[in-house]
Amino acid sequence: MSDSKEEQPNDFVQWRHAPAKHWLYCPLCRGPLANQSWDGRERRYCTHCGFVYWERALPAVAVLVFEPIRQEILLVTRRYPPYAGGLTFPGGGIEFGESVAEAAVREVQEETGLLVSLDSQFGTWSTPGNHTIITFFRAHPVDGEIKAGSDALEAGFYRWNKVLSLAFSLHDMVLNLFRTEMEMTIAGPQK
Ligand SMILES: [Zn+2]
Repeated sequence: MSDSKEEQPNDFVQWRHAPAKHWLYCPLCRGPLANQSWDGRERRYCTHCGFVYWERALPAVAVLVFEPIRQEILLVTRRYPPYAGGLTFPGGGIEFGESVAEAAVREVQEETGLLVSLDSQFGTWSTPGNHTIITFFRAHPVDGEIKAGSDALEAGFYRWNKVLSLAFSLHDMVLNLFRTEMEMTIAGPQK
């Protein structure tokens, strides 16, 4: 089996999201998995118990916590690969039993120490290559003090016009959209 450059086995540990083609044994009965085509897609399934691994995109959240007067946005410095040392919006996966909004608030608190109140959704996009779907929220801090969580080396507010690039191309794209939105808000409606 040959791996493509963007899908090295080490990445799976970090993403916790191994593509189905790398699954060898059934997680329920330990039987060997085989391939079968459903609706034109190859699925891994267990010939012993019938388990099917439905390969799905992974939902996640990210949060734009910002201070409009100071023109600053909350970012975390990643502790772990991929892109250790890179800047991103706080965010992460959605736990079972948790709403999308609850996940957003929890992730910000875990990674930055700040309790935020969500203002609105900014948008939902899928990331190229790693099969994640991220819903971005706008939020403002209501309590707490900044303290980097275990996933982060640092957390802090940055002038959004001075941040050159973020660790992920999707986060970069969202930051650019956000900057444009804020410029239009500050400029006011065109006469
Ligand atoms: Zn099985």
